[in-house]
Amino acid sequence: MKRRDFVKGIGIGTLATSSLVTATASAKPKIKWKMVTTWPKNFPGLGTGANFLAKTIGEMSGGRMEVKVYGAKEIVPAFESFDAVSRGTAEMGHGAAYYWKGKSEAAQFFAAVPFGLTAQEMNSWLYHGGGMELWREVYAPFNLIPAAIGNSGVQMAGWFNKEINSLADLKGLKMRIPGLGGEVLKRAGGTPVSLPGGELFTSLKSGAIDATEWVGPYNDLAFGLYKAAKYYYYPGWHEPGTTLETFINKEAFNALPDDLKIIVMNACRIANQDMLAEYTARNNKALHTLVTKHKVQLKKLPDEVLLKLRILSDEVVSEIAGKDPISRKVFDSFSSFRKQVIEWHKVSEHAYMNARAL
Ligand code: CA
Repeated sequence: MKRRDFVKGIGIGTLATSSLVTATASAKPKIKWKMVTTWPKNFPGLGTGANFLAKTIGEMSGGRMEVKVYGAKEIVPAFESFDAVSRGTAEMGHGAAYYWKGKSEAAQFFAAVPFGLTAQEMNSWLYHGGGMELWREVYAPFNLIPAAIGNSGVQMAGWFNKEINSLADLKGLKMRIPGLGGEVLKRAGGTPVSLPGGELFTSLKSGAIDATEWVGPYNDLAFGLYKAAKYYYYPGWHEPGTTLETFINKEAFNALPDDLKIIVMNACRIANQDMLAEYTARNNKALHTLVTKHKVQLKKLPDEVLLKLRILSDEVVSEIAGKDPISRKVFDSFSSFRKQVIEWHKVSEHAYMNARAL
C-alpha cells in the first residue's frame, strides 16, 4: 500500500492523521543510485572507502538519497565500470583514473604519477591549482563527472625475493607493477607484468614473478604477501599519493536538485580525507606486525637506484604530453604545479620532517 493511499484509507480528522498528511506532502521521493566499484566488496581501505562514501551521501541527504555499493563483477567486471556509468547502467563508479588510460592518456595524471605529487599536493592541485577543472574536461566526452574520493598516501616499493643493491639488480626482474611505473621499470631493464590483485600471492609464491608492488602495509598484510617474499622495499616512488576517484553519470547528476548536487560533491570531499586518514592510521600498525611478527626485512631502495628511476620517470611522464592536446594541457598544469609545490614543501613539510628525524 502506498503512503498516500494509506493516509486516504485511515481518513482525515484526528491530529495524528493531519501531521502524517503534512509529512507526506513534504517528503520527496527517495533517489536510488547504484555505485559499481573496481574492488572486491568491502576490500580494506578501497572497498570500505566506497561504502563510506555511499553512507555519507545517505546521511547528509537525510535519507533522500540512497547509494547501493556493488563489488567488482556484481554488475560489471572491475574494468568495465567506466563504460557502465558512462552509458547509465549505474549512476556512479569507484576506481582509480589510471585504469582508463585506454580512454584517455591524460587520465593517468589524476591517479598516480611516478615521482609526482603526494596526497596533500594532489588535493592542492585538484582543489586550488586547476586540476579539478581539467579532470572534468578529460571525462566530459565520456558523459562523466569525476571527483577525488580517497588517497592511499605514499605506497611501498614492493615485495622482492632478492635484494636490490644496484641498477643491475633490476635487469631482467619480472615484477607486477602496472601503469607508468611499469613503463619506467621496463626502461630500467626489468619486465613489468600486469596482474589483478587477486593473483599476486600465487604468482609470487610460485616464482612466476620475482617481485610485486601492491599498496602499503595495511593492504599488503591482508593479502599475506609476506608469506611469498622476504624483502619489503620502500618508498613507493611509482605511486607517491594515489588518488582514488568516483565518476558520476552526467544526466543522473544533472537530474539532482541543487542541494543534493552540493551534498554529493561535499560527501566526496569528506570521503577523500577519510580514506587517507584511515591508511595513515593503519599502515604503521600493519608494518609493525609485518616486521616483528612475520620477520619481514624492511629495506630502502638505494639512492642510486631511486635517482635513475626518477630520471626515467621524467622521460616517461613527459612523453604522455605528446600524445594529444588535452594530455599536453594536463601535463603542463601538473608539471608547473609540481615545480612550485616542491619549492614550498622544501621549506615546510620536507624541512620539518628532516628536523624531526635529526
Ligand atoms: Ca600500487
